[in-house]
Amino acid sequence: MPSPMIEVRSLRMYFPVGNNLFGKRRQLKAVDGVSFDLYPGETFGLVGESGCGKTTVGRALVRLYKPTDGQIIYQGTDIAPLDEKEVQPYRRRMQMIFQDPYASLNPRMTVSSIIAEPMKLQQAPQDAIDARVAELVEQVGLKKDHLNRYPHEFSGGQRQRIGIARALAMHPEFVVCDEPISALDVSIQAQVINMLEELQQQMGMTYLFVSHDLSMVRHISHRVGVMYLGHMVELAEVEELYSNMLHPYTQALMSAVPIADPDLAAQSRRIVLQGDVPQPIDPPPGCPFASRCRHCMPVCREALPGMREVSPGHYLACHLK
Ligand code: SF4
Repeated sequence: MPSPMIEVRSLRMYFPVGNNLFGKRRQLKAVDGVSFDLYPGETFGLVGESGCGKTTVGRALVRLYKPTDGQIIYQGTDIAPLDEKEVQPYRRRMQMIFQDPYASLNPRMTVSSIIAEPMKLQQAPQDAIDARVAELVEQVGLKKDHLNRYPHEFSGGQRQRIGIARALAMHPEFVVCDEPISALDVSIQAQVINMLEELQQQMGMTYLFVSHDLSMVRHISHRVGVMYLGHMVELAEVEELYSNMLHPYTQALMSAVPIADPDLAAQSRRIVLQGDVPQPIDPPPGCPFASRCRHCMPVCREALPGMREVSPGHYLACHLK
């Protein structure tokens, strides 16, 4: 393994949500002590149910949020505590592709101005901007005559291509893809995924691919992390995770994935989770999954299981193993 490009250590992202009845400040613990590494050129899939904190991790890594605590060591520098001015040089190297291509593009700007905007902010010369815009339009499969049109004139897939071109304008090394295909028609999803894979090969970028679509994550990722209620509960190389999932939550999540082969589907058994999902505001002590886990033991209600390497490259946070 090469040296990590980004080392995430005990990342915490808490949001204030007012006071309780006794006047004590309450916090929503969206991310609560997540650690993992990202290696150059890899795609790291981050999965979990809605509200588990995966998007918040992505936003914190590109410093759209300033973390409450923890470290984000980007090529040797901890960028977590940097202020807005100090973080600017890193922002250029890290970009985000958003879930909703409709909401993420300014409707009053032409495609050309949208793609050129990050370069203009960096005061790049106009001829360099024009050349880069022409190059990007081709790379993302749009046409030159699209450049003077407005976002509403395009389909969802084309708008996502515009968003991708804008994200790639400054030659980023690291891109967070936040549910980049979930708002698109199924027929378009594979095209966008193939394009992201091709662009990664051409430009050598590292991706954090945030998604609830486990089949797509399996297709695109090299390693996968599973999050539950602000915690990373399991992490492994993709085939290891999908064939030897150890955490009871990962097992339940994977059991819900449709299986194309009718024989295998007949043998598989869906694990239906019982119990309530705890609130991320003032969550109870112990394992975050305890209220829904069929293997829950007394220790699980008291002690938070730490992440341990149970086999080479396979990490698990569970008292069972
Ligand atoms: Fe279940 Fe306990 Fe493991 Fe949590 S630590 S997943 S409650 S067995």
